[in-house]
Amino acid sequence: MAKQTLECSFCGRKKPETDLLIAGIDAHICDKCIEQAHGIVLEELKANKGSKKNVGDLILKKPKEIRAFLDQYVIGQDQTKKVMSVAVYNHYKRLMQLQTEDDVEIEKSNIIMVGQTGTGKTLVAKTIARMLDVPLAIVDATVLTEAGYVGEDVESILTRLLQAADYDLAKAERGIVFIDEIDKIARKSDNPSITRDVSGEGVQQALLKLLEGTVVNVPPKGGRKHPDQKFVEVNTQNILFIAGGAFDGVEKIISKRLNRQAVGYSTSKNVDNIDKDNLLQYIIPKDIKDFGLIPEIIGRLPVLTHMDPLDRETLRAILTEPKNALIKQYKKLFSIDDVAFTITDEALDFIVDKALEYKLGARGLRSLCEAILTDAMYDLPSSDETELKIDREYAEHTLNKNLLKRLEIAS
Ligand code: ADP
Repeated sequence: MAKQTLECSFCGRKKPETDLLIAGIDAHICDKCIEQAHGIVLEELKANKGSKKNVGDLILKKPKEIRAFLDQYVIGQDQTKKVMSVAVYNHYKRLMQLQTEDDVEIEKSNIIMVGQTGTGKTLVAKTIARMLDVPLAIVDATVLTEAGYVGEDVESILTRLLQAADYDLAKAERGIVFIDEIDKIARKSDNPSITRDVSGEGVQQALLKLLEGTVVNVPPKGGRKHPDQKFVEVNTQNILFIAGGAFDGVEKIISKRLNRQAVGYSTSKNVDNIDKDNLLQYIIPKDIKDFGLIPEIIGRLPVLTHMDPLDRETLRAILTEPKNALIKQYKKLFSIDDVAFTITDEALDFIVDKALEYKLGARGLRSLCEAILTDAMYDLPSSDETELKIDREYAEHTLNKNLLKRLEIAS
């Protein structure tokens, strides 16, 4: 009997027609079928991954879990982290439509964060988006103007969100929009009729409908609306809006209100307990109304929270503690060149001192570190050094050489 030629059990190709034939227990498979099967597996995996991102599959994290996630990235800001955790929890409960029997509709919990620049407002919004794995659009309120004026229409916010979601509409519709510098669209004067306030109250009015939840025709590639353009209908009902602003000068409004309130009391006990260095912690919605946001906007941003100024201890922790802390990043950068990077506590304290001295805040920490480490990052990759230890003396020397002179001239 002639010897039977082996063949692929899937496509029937004879062994000589294949480059490779792999034997199983009771069957054979050829290289072409393996490749095809591999393609099918990849497709399937991709499809499953996509479907997991549907609203129904969102994993609802408890406030304490949300808080724990924030703690990994954001130092301090306890009140904001707590308030945010609850707001985000409620928002996503609402998204998952956990409706009660009485059909109570849970309203949106859009958020407004008040705090000096560089205290972590954007970072909080970014971290929340990262945790939920939803798209995030960061927009600057200062570029927004009323429709028809030079600047961007408020709809451009949704264009950005669509872009951040890779034009996946369903994803965009449950994303997060962070509107920075919301304070800059405050009403410019108490008498709005003097001139047209195109970048102030007008923008607030235009923003209102987005915050409320509505269907907006959005030009997907941005730009001004014009009749021939194709629009995407975006429903803002489930988009979480987080607004942030420094509200420079709001402390005066808070302080005035607190003093006025104190007059009404027979004892001045309440006023004595006030922490004058951090008046923002006493902020109430009325203060931002007095600052110039219209009541309707404030009503649509019902969760109000403040950011604490960054003190020495917080700045020091920001350098080393967050999951992607600066120092950890430099360690990683150097390790790629097989250099073990260490920095002494004294050097870290020195960096913090300089950030405070030049009022550079958390953002300045990065430029200070860059100035200290640039020489080493330049030289070490082409040397045999396997170790870099930064002490205070080295930090002081390089910083003086590279940055402080410029800072001194600037200040
Ligand atoms: P804001 O939006 O309030 O102006 P950012 O969130 O943009 O401030 O903060 C700027 C940078 O400073 C962040 O990228 C982060 O590296 C750092 N930072 C600021 N505040 C904190 C904080 N509380 N915890 C950790 N890092 C912070």
